[in-house]
Amino acid sequence: MPELSRRDLLSAAAGGVTGLAAVSAGDEPRGPASKDPLAVTTLPSFRLALEEQPGKVMPGGSAREATAAELPVSQGLSGVSMRLKPGGLRELHWHANAAEWAFVVRGRVRTTVIAPDGTAEINDFGPGDVWYFPRGHGHSIQGLGPDECHFILVFDNGAFSEFGTFSSTDWLAQTPPSVLSKSLGLPAFEFQQFPPGEVYVAVGRVPPGPIPALRSESLRPPALTHFYSLLSRAPYEVFPGGREWRVTAREFPISQTISGIVLELDPGAVREPHWHPNANEWQYYLQGEARMGVFGARGRSRTERFGEGDVGYVPRGYGHYIENTGAKPCRILIAFDSGEYQEISLSTWLAANPVRLLADNFQVADAIAERLPDHRVFIAPAASE
Ligand code: MN
Ligand code: MN
Repeated sequence: MPELSRRDLLSAAAGGVTGLAAVSAGDEPRGPASKDPLAVTTLPSFRLALEEQPGKVMPGGSAREATAAELPVSQGLSGVSMRLKPGGLRELHWHANAAEWAFVVRGRVRTTVIAPDGTAEINDFGPGDVWYFPRGHGHSIQGLGPDECHFILVFDNGAFSEFGTFSSTDWLAQTPPSVLSKSLGLPAFEFQQFPPGEVYVAVGRVPPGPIPALRSESLRPPALTHFYSLLSRAPYEVFPGGREWRVTAREFPISQTISGIVLELDPGAVREPHWHPNANEWQYYLQGEARMGVFGARGRSRTERFGEGDVGYVPRGYGHYIENTGAKPCRILIAFDSGEYQEISLSTWLAANPVRLLADNFQVADAIAERLPDHRVFIAPAASE
């Protein structure tokens, strides 16, 4: 959906648009847009309808990506929505310019990964599980069935493209058979049977049984696992209006460059205005509806509406809030391009200042400033009517 104009908001307030909860007369931002003709007065869009992208659709699965090419504001992070049929294999590959963090939405997958220190790991993942592959480490992903699986990949580089990465089939097709024969021990003619170019997602067989042992005793398991089960745990924090699951490098030490949260807002609840001093924010709306307002300084703000399958993005340091505008819980997957999670929320900031200072700052009476929060809110519930 496009950005909401003020007229949309006013007409919604007058009952002209349905489904816009929590918008009432006078609820639009009070500040006028910047009058400085030299200022950049508009903010770019922060939304991409990822599941409506054409992407790549193959017999073994599909992939749709959100990079800086599709969503220009998303310079720091990019993402891919990928589905694999049972046995569908995202072939052996690596990424030269990004680490990969993933969250399984539904179904089951198996990954393999090799690290430069000669350690290797094979892991199985189900809904709510997370993996992390450091930049450049070779890996594969295969659907375990019985149904199609769906997972979200996040990369810590907006210029990353899943469709321009380093694939094993492409590489072998670009290497003389004699070199492959010397290196790998098969007669050169056998390589004529290998694919003549990149396969990307192969139609494969569902692997039988549990995770197999590594084929060589010279390979060892890594010191730090690539697996983290996020949603099987109790929430990191619970609030009157929702809950948050969180995984950072503290809980998942291999994930040095990306942290993630799953945010669940009850109908009408607001993740209060806040900013992240250290990281860009990449969002995938898993379920429900929301509006997000982003504040970009110099009299600039922008509000956009999000639904299931949409991607949102907030540049590092930009103020933002998210409000559940639907009748059902809204669940959002959020990733940051830092292993450390940092945020400053508006309520905490105000609580850290004397009442007299707040009254002077906002030019209101002390009696009003006294009623501002003296504690962190984080998620606020729907207003009780
Ligand atoms: Mn990958
Ligand atoms: Mn945020």
